[in-house]
Amino acid sequence: MSHRAVVVGAGPAGSVAALVLARAGVDVELFDRATFPRPKLCGDTVNPGTLAMLDALGVGAAVRNASHPVTGMLVTGPHGAAIAADYPLGVCGAAIERREFDAALLAAAVSAGARLTSGVRVDAPVIDPKTARVAGIRVNDRGRHEDVHADIVIAADGRGSRLGGALGLTRFASSPQRWAYGAYFRGIDAMTTRGEMHIRADGYLGIAPVAPGLANVCVVRELVHMDTGGVPAEEMIAAAIRDDGRLRDRFSGASRVTPPVVLGPLAVDAACAGAPGLLLAGDAAGFVDPMTGDGLRFAVRGGMLAAEAALREMTTGQPAYGELLRVRRREFSGKWRLNRTLRWLVGSPAALDVAAALGSRWPAAVRALVAAAGDVNLARRPA
Ligand SMILES: Cc1cc2nc3c(=O)[nH]c(=O)nc-3n(C[C@H](O)[C@H](O)[C@H](O)COP(=O)(O)OP(=O)(O)OC[C@H]3O[C@@H](n4cnc5c(N)ncnc54)[C@H](O)[C@@H]3O)c2cc1C
Repeated sequence: MSHRAVVVGAGPAGSVAALVLARAGVDVELFDRATFPRPKLCGDTVNPGTLAMLDALGVGAAVRNASHPVTGMLVTGPHGAAIAADYPLGVCGAAIERREFDAALLAAAVSAGARLTSGVRVDAPVIDPKTARVAGIRVNDRGRHEDVHADIVIAADGRGSRLGGALGLTRFASSPQRWAYGAYFRGIDAMTTRGEMHIRADGYLGIAPVAPGLANVCVVRELVHMDTGGVPAEEMIAAAIRDDGRLRDRFSGASRVTPPVVLGPLAVDAACAGAPGLLLAGDAAGFVDPMTGDGLRFAVRGGMLAAEAALREMTTGQPAYGELLRVRRREFSGKWRLNRTLRWLVGSPAALDVAAALGSRWPAAVRALVAAAGDVNLARRPA
């Protein structure tokens, strides 16, 4: 008899976990409260290392076909420093709207055999009272509740995971308290094939060229720099552009073509990677600041690792969440450290000035940083 897995959340982490499990012959049911394709606030960049992982999963071509190549990064600092660096060895990342990216991964999971139930919310884990193990999920289909049982549950339900929260595994971090505001713009001047990160004393603004003439713009601000009197999202984005001498001119002929979306607070801490019968993947396993544009790498690889751990747990009957935590730490901790350092830098104007000055004198250091942020070590040189 085949094993039965439930995956909650059909974003990148959940779809990749479902894909790996379905290919291994597991009976997989995937639940999401949204119906697809659905929009998602994101910087829309897939770094070269993540693309290489998608290639290994056989979904890289579908993503590349719907995306635009990103050849490197332009990074600017608060007092005029500006450094452009391409990824080495001709490797590229991609810019792609998340509705398309997520739909491509989900289609791969479904064609591998995962069954999707969309438009229903998962409210809580079901706990077996005899073993204290997670034994399934409670589904809320427009007020109609049903328990769905499974040998293993993968919680890939994003930042602020309901399942992780219910088990006390994750919580919103008390610091930093950052919010993100995003929208699409047409007609920004001087766009190239590079992604852009404009770091300022009060936060940062990212721009990604998702299609000819069309760009994703994301502004991230810390609570201490925000007027908590409730500035509307459109004004947060407009002010970030208007008050910035270097960006203002480039946006003078541009227009916002989608309503702004706001998300926050961003940071989520996770103490561990699951519990008996349940494994965390993607943002549900902890959300890092989006500045380095690598959340999708953690989501895709985290989905693969959670699926492998699920297969172990179903085969041996032994909880695999401890081992999953060890593997995640081994693979991700170097990148988490880089991310924390950059997070600290953005929060400290003095340190940022020093880094900008050093960066303009040693562009090789910036190129190395862009390559590290892009997980270029995981990518293969194009043939
Ligand atoms: C402003 C911003 C910019 C970013 N930019 C980038 C970038 O450029 N590059 C990059 O690599 N990363 C970026 N990230 C990070 C990236 O967006 C996330 O890491 C990624 O979306 C995580 O994928 P996931 O599958 O874990 O979660 P999600 O994509 O959030 O998917 C979770 C899914 O779970 C579903 N769900 C949630 N709760 C329930 C429930 N109770 N019941 C049923 N379904 C549920 C949701 O509908 C959703 O479909 C950015 C993040 C932010 C906030």
